[in-house]
Amino acid sequence: MSLYFTSLNSGSNGNCYYVGNSQEAVLVDAGISCRETERRMARLGLDMGKVKAIVVSHEHVDHIRGIPVLSKKYNLPVYITEATLRHSGMQLEGRAFSATEPIRIGALEIQPFVKYHDAADPHSFLISSGQARVGVFTDIGRPCGELARYFSMCHAAFLETNYDTDMLDKGRYPVFLKNRIRGGHGHLSNNEALEVFLRHRTRHLSHVLLSHLSQDNNDPDLVHSLFTRHSNGTQIVVAGRYAETPVFHINPTEVPEPVHLPITQLPAILPQPAASRKSSAQKNRPVQTSLF
Ligand SMILES: [Zn+2]
Ligand SMILES: [Zn+2]
Repeated sequence: MSLYFTSLNSGSNGNCYYVGNSQEAVLVDAGISCRETERRMARLGLDMGKVKAIVVSHEHVDHIRGIPVLSKKYNLPVYITEATLRHSGMQLEGRAFSATEPIRIGALEIQPFVKYHDAADPHSFLISSGQARVGVFTDIGRPCGELARYFSMCHAAFLETNYDTDMLDKGRYPVFLKNRIRGGHGHLSNNEALEVFLRHRTRHLSHVLLSHLSQDNNDPDLVHSLFTRHSNGTQIVVAGRYAETPVFHINPTEVPEPVHLPITQLPAILPQPAASRKSSAQKNRPVQTSLF
């Protein structure tokens, strides 16, 4: 079975990812307005009628802004954990999920897993339809073992590349904010994401959509060329902050087996993290914010 997928928008100004087969689809997050979601879906020739649910990664406003209107207008169930709903401020009846059991919607199976991020109960998702698998991995504080495992199972992945380390270091953000971004519960840097890509990709990985790029601390051309230099046949696409990507399609015949390259086999291209990266994770857990 095949999967179609696109980023309707990606970044701290709004996130909405469409993943579906020929019969049904889900939106992972709905962080742009209902009207803009409809407009972008229509431009891509995607049918809102196929969307059967919204699955929510966490409560930051760039992931939930469009949910109340969109879910009401189309009568869509909203899959959201109890803690995320409580912290979101949204008045709706959610359907709870947890990492212990996949969500099943028709032939789609959505496996949540826990991630590090400064939110109440944040999750990433691996979405399957038959053998086809697409991962949605954004808002990740650090590249944990769960991310590695699920990334290695993907034919295609939305992978966060939030910031370039040098640009963040030299940029205008105050130090406390820089430390929140890179402190283990914020966002994934270009180099951290590249390390995940190089170490845990399989030969089945056909597409990587670089996601949730910072406007101030990243450069789409820079990160695109960084990954393209090591793409080895994987199509590299930047998921933009202001427009939808094209719709991509996979129709694999095999399921990837996880691989883990020993660290000694990694290309010697990954710079050492700055000393500040080693500072302990930030404990504060802001509600309804996404500053990056
Ligand atoms: Zn976000
Ligand atoms: Zn977030």
